[in-house]
Amino acid sequence: MNSVIQKATRIIIKVGSSLVTNDGRGLDHAAIARWASQIAGLRALGKEVVLVSSGAIAEGMLRLGFERRPTDIHELQACAAVGQMGLAQIYETSFRAHQLGTAQVLLTHADLADRERYLNARSTLTTLLRLGVVPIINENDTVVTDEIKFGDNDTLGALVANLIEADALIILTDQKGLYSADPRKEPSAVLIQHGRAGDPALEAMAGGAGSSLGRGGMLTKILAAKRAAKSGAHTVIAYGREREVLARLASGESIGTELAAQTGHLTARKQWMADHLHTAGQVVLDAGAVQKLTGEGKSLLPIGVVDVKGEFGRGAVITCVSPDGVAVARGLSNYTSGETRRIMRKPSSEIEALLGFVEGKELIHRDNLVLL
Ligand code: GLU
Repeated sequence: MNSVIQKATRIIIKVGSSLVTNDGRGLDHAAIARWASQIAGLRALGKEVVLVSSGAIAEGMLRLGFERRPTDIHELQACAAVGQMGLAQIYETSFRAHQLGTAQVLLTHADLADRERYLNARSTLTTLLRLGVVPIINENDTVVTDEIKFGDNDTLGALVANLIEADALIILTDQKGLYSADPRKEPSAVLIQHGRAGDPALEAMAGGAGSSLGRGGMLTKILAAKRAAKSGAHTVIAYGREREVLARLASGESIGTELAAQTGHLTARKQWMADHLHTAGQVVLDAGAVQKLTGEGKSLLPIGVVDVKGEFGRGAVITCVSPDGVAVARGLSNYTSGETRRIMRKPSSEIEALLGFVEGKELIHRDNLVLL
């Protein structure tokens, strides 16, 4: 038994190109329809699902008449841009058959490293989930080429798990999971069913430090699991052609390799905040706001702020201090220091009139806040 997926509420599912295409050329409509049906099954169990899917290049190759995968990176990018239209179209049609809406989200690694874009992507995705939509993510291959060159979206899947603090990342692939050695060379190689995400021994089994990061190879998956674990997400690497693989994982069946995260979400988030000790600025709260944060676990609203110290941008980590100067919390600011000065002491209903836009009714949402 393997209860990681059974217990998870928010799951990132990454399907590699081989599972949605006809041997890398054109999309496999029937396979995509089966993924939509399986994901609809997870949704019916009350799970939130974000799908990370490649396949754009394969579809673009067909549409542009390439017989073989081009080697020129710009041609690959062109294929991705053309093929993404078809990928989005087929997913939308397939999910509609289950009365589920989809959303296309194209991201880059840099988007998620930038605090402001990170916050924007995070709020869009969590809003989509709240609205019952299945976000379908691919790398924005027009502006970057990381996944084309290395990962086939494995890393992107992990970054998205970090972004929205998913409970689990399922990497579906054309291999059964991680083996103790290369099964093609070592007949005695055994499937690793359980491991600890981040264990260096796994990297050695997946090809070792010396081996190259092949496109979508096992090593990128092991490294993706390590990255996902940083925000407390467990990873399962499983064979995508296994019958009803998602439903069976959700019922607790052990399939493939499960790599458990060692720290829970909260610890992981606190660690992240602790890594940002040099906060860009401070907001001084009134006594009521201190009570709301520390006693009731609420978000920080602009009305509870009486002073702003230092200069910071949207997405910066700022410290919240009590009226007598004690640091009580730290979190990601939805507004810049200048904007905060204009909206402090004001009810959130006035934010739009004061600034001309609303990034959120909170200055720091409780999900982005850590008490000290
Ligand atoms: N983002 C690319 C796609 O969707 C990655 C996969 C690949 O390199 O083939 O096609």
